[in-house]
Amino acid sequence: MTEKHGAPVIVWFRKDLRTDDHAALAAAAETGFPVIALYIREPDGAGTGPLGAAQAWWLHHSLASLGKTLRALGTPLILRSGAAADVLDTLIEETGAGSVHWNRRHDPAGIAIDTDIKAALKARGITARSFAGQLLHDPARLQTGEKKPYRVYTPFWKALEREGEPHEPIDAPESLRSFSGVLHSERLDDWALLPARPDWATAFKDIWTPGQAAARERLDDFVDGAIEGYRTNRDRPAIDATSMLSPHLAMGEISPARIWHATRGLKMPTEDVIHFRKELAWREFCYHLHFHFPQLSDRNWNDRFDAFPWEASGRNFALWTRGRTGYPIVDAGMRQLWQHGWMHNRVRMITASFLIKHLMIDWRRGEKWFRDTLVDADAASNAANWQWVAGSGADASPFFRIFNPILQGEKFDPEGTYVRTFVPELEKLDAKWIHKPFDAPESALSKAGVELGRTYPKPMVDHGKARERALAAYKSLKDG
Ligand code: FAD
Repeated sequence: MTEKHGAPVIVWFRKDLRTDDHAALAAAAETGFPVIALYIREPDGAGTGPLGAAQAWWLHHSLASLGKTLRALGTPLILRSGAAADVLDTLIEETGAGSVHWNRRHDPAGIAIDTDIKAALKARGITARSFAGQLLHDPARLQTGEKKPYRVYTPFWKALEREGEPHEPIDAPESLRSFSGVLHSERLDDWALLPARPDWATAFKDIWTPGQAAARERLDDFVDGAIEGYRTNRDRPAIDATSMLSPHLAMGEISPARIWHATRGLKMPTEDVIHFRKELAWREFCYHLHFHFPQLSDRNWNDRFDAFPWEASGRNFALWTRGRTGYPIVDAGMRQLWQHGWMHNRVRMITASFLIKHLMIDWRRGEKWFRDTLVDADAASNAANWQWVAGSGADASPFFRIFNPILQGEKFDPEGTYVRTFVPELEKLDAKWIHKPFDAPESALSKAGVELGRTYPKPMVDHGKARERALAAYKSLKDG
């Protein structure tokens, strides 16, 4: 399919807010025709669903950053709101654009919208070209020997390896020819993506810099440093041992192929690199599951869990969201999430398990909370991981494997450094008691200035009893 000679090319940016390794933009630049860069604020529910509040903060800064980068290349970023088909129609009318380019999205709702738009554009003689690049490999291409989707991660990983190396990343264009007319763009500030009163995101900027330049910097730092030892250190939340690239990936500020290729030829134990690549492959697996099971965020993958006797408690849910469960590792995780819009993977597993198994609250409520509070919220990865913890997902951790929050804390945060960072009221407590202040003698508590039930909550449930209750509920499901 070719572009109409000389007519402007619209490049529709979505969750791919970068110029580097952006196949749709590169192809538009190559034509030498004017390029119109467009971002559409689609109505809630279109594409991957409503934007969470933390990710809205990210989107604001990411769009500002992309706008600056594009301007430096020669063209502004046009912001418009509305149904994508209508916005594109209007812009084509205004500019005489002959083609529209975009990078493919892989969520079922997004695919449906794009398919309709492609057909409508084609019908009116406009070229629509979609490109790969958001994933290492096309999730639809990977199939088992029986031509079925993968349900288990390890064979999926092997299939991914058989696909060979992902594409070589494409460098950003050096310049773009701009459209000669004046185009209206909505003002980013008018989209009110940032929290105002109160501004709960004040600590975000201490940790995060949205935008592709910062993503690239993070990648470079990671491959120069923490990737060595990744395999062993990645489970320790107090250590900066992981890449923290997830929010950049979620907004497409960096491509997985760019990350993959940056880990080639590193002089370090190969198991660290392989382990890291396997995590990137988990992301692919989540997309694969979501592609083949569009209801991943709403329905149990394994429908046996449909009969699970979930508790409706609003109070317990609220205590969990606020990090007031009385289990320090859980509370630290939930407070890290609130303060930084991000939580370490090990602690995501512990906090999710606590909600589902200790409190017996439906995983979908946790999934929604994470979606609203994570800067890296991703429809596929979030839902697949929640279902993995719940035991209802594909290749999931069995339900009966119930994390003990005390032992998990002692194993992965032995000095309590992570807990002390996010639960300052326990800062002075001896490491011996940091994960179980409720077992500490009165002398240790008072020395540390801790008064259970006043300065720090008593445990909201007893671990042993909660575990038995959850196992009984699971048994009723199996017997039922
Ligand atoms: P690294 O360890 O540096 O890994 C590199 C990249 O691999 C990550 O950026 C991510 O893209 C991918 N990755 C790593 N682990 C996983 C995983 N288990 N599943 C899928 N991809 C993975 N990740 C999200 O990106 N968005 C989410 O909404 C999300 N929700 C989660 C909810 C729960 C309950 C759990 C247990 C995990 C969730 N994860 C989610 C996966 C994982 O926790 C994060 O991707 C990871 O913590 C991001 O940190 P990082 O970039 O430093 O990871």
